[in-house]
Amino acid sequence: MRTPIIAGNWKMNNTIAQGKRLIEEIKSGKIKEGVEAVLCVPYTLIQGAKGYVEDTDIKIGAQNVHWEENGAFTGEVSPVMLKELEVDYVIIGHSERRQYFNETDKTVNLKVKAAIKEGITPIVCVGETLEQREEGVHIDLVKNQVIEAFEGVVEEAVANLVIAYEPIWAIGTGKTATSDQAEEMCRLIRETIESIYDIKTAQAVRIQYGGSVKPDNIVELMEKENIDGALVGGASLKAEDFLKLLNY
Ligand code: PGA
Repeated sequence: MRTPIIAGNWKMNNTIAQGKRLIEEIKSGKIKEGVEAVLCVPYTLIQGAKGYVEDTDIKIGAQNVHWEENGAFTGEVSPVMLKELEVDYVIIGHSERRQYFNETDKTVNLKVKAAIKEGITPIVCVGETLEQREEGVHIDLVKNQVIEAFEGVVEEAVANLVIAYEPIWAIGTGKTATSDQAEEMCRLIRETIESIYDIKTAQAVRIQYGGSVKPDNIVELMEKENIDGALVGGASLKAEDFLKLLNY
């Protein structure tokens, strides 16, 4: 049995004061038993957030990481620095980073390996644009993103990590993939992991769907065999909505 994982991706939202308030609101609600809740917050909020959730099971994640331990990389944050903050998860290869900050499959792979080395669990994002889907290349593209992201990653590490399928056309647009479309791609990702590693690893890895997940579509998505959770942007910024997702 895979533990369902619902992760909020706050993106570049919330000051320290706003983040503290939001976490307090989330803490005042209940979380469905057996559901793992994660908040991926801006760097400025990590240390505070770790403290605010101390008395709960909520996990804290970062939204990006560099692959080097240190060095002349102005503006970057290393996996060693995140480890010091006891970050549980880190989002790697989010489509916004691929689109605006030149993230490539190669850098995603370096980051995945660097995070694993420091004991931080990657949430590896893959997904196609609308154009790619319309051209019919989305299957090969996503398969390839998975293969490249995991190049040289040891089997034992893969079983514990998380992959998020996020079709770019569904992110922040209000257009969700249908649960069948999401399931088809999540199954493809699991089959790809099986082809690289083995069935045991493929059955263990958790796969999230992301892209306009909301209280009114989460149930249908979570019913699917290969969808183990959600990576949530917009709806994670309101405690009421996020709590509904955590109690789907
Ligand atoms: P959204 O974002 O839920 O606002 O579509 C999801 C994401 O980008 O992770």
